[in-house]
Amino acid sequence: MVIVMSLLLGACGGAPPTAVSSDRTGADASLGSPAAPRIAASRESSKPTPQAAAKRARPAVNCKKLKCIALTYDDGPSPKTTAKLIKILKKHKAKATFFQLGQLAKRHPKLVRKIHQMGSEVANHSWDHDSLNRKSVKGAHQDLKRASAAIEKGCRCRVRLMRPPYGATDKGVDKAAKKAGLAEILWDIDTLDWSSRNPGKIKRKVLRGAARNRIVLMHDIHRTTIAAQEDIIKGLKKRGYTLVTVSELLGKPKPGKRYPKSWR
Ligand SMILES: [Zn+2]
Repeated sequence: MVIVMSLLLGACGGAPPTAVSSDRTGADASLGSPAAPRIAASRESSKPTPQAAAKRARPAVNCKKLKCIALTYDDGPSPKTTAKLIKILKKHKAKATFFQLGQLAKRHPKLVRKIHQMGSEVANHSWDHDSLNRKSVKGAHQDLKRASAAIEKGCRCRVRLMRPPYGATDKGVDKAAKKAGLAEILWDIDTLDWSSRNPGKIKRKVLRGAARNRIVLMHDIHRTTIAAQEDIIKGLKKRGYTLVTVSELLGKPKPGKRYPKSWR
């Protein structure tokens, strides 16, 4: 069964399934065309410093005791908007999860690394935002593997989560994700940030929909989404929430399984 929550059409990408192929006019417009010239990946030293390791180390979060919520950002990394978001999260000591496109992670490995270093989570959102349910299981698996490799090269970490573009999933996507060692993460709250492009509306969607252990969908490629983040983080903290990564929220999600449960 193909589940395309398109009410939701926001679902990462913003275009309905019928328009999937032309979705780049939607949330991904700022990605530029796939044929856009590639920027050479910058070189980084290959060894994590002890300071970086210490920075990452932090006490385990217990979401059975704490009031947790997971902010997630799709379709990046983008040098302008993601870099700004990293600063905001750091300032508030908040954690989040970034579902990234492999082709952008390859172009911007330093951003991938920075996210990991600050204790946030980097995850897989396919290579270039194709609908994985339109591919064969083999094709979807290859796509996920290629994206994970690019992201892992940037973060020097292991990627364990994926989110299918548009939330378009089916049994074939489940199989491909399982084979790639990735749990499938959908969401509870769709902010429709790609559509409204209105910081006030985005903030209200999050704060009104907030509840314990919920997963919030946003996109870190829109200036308007970034503009809403200070208020969202402050508002959630004021309401007693701890901002955690998806893996912290779910414990050890299983490869090939969909989360939250409402998506199964
Ligand atoms: Zn997306």
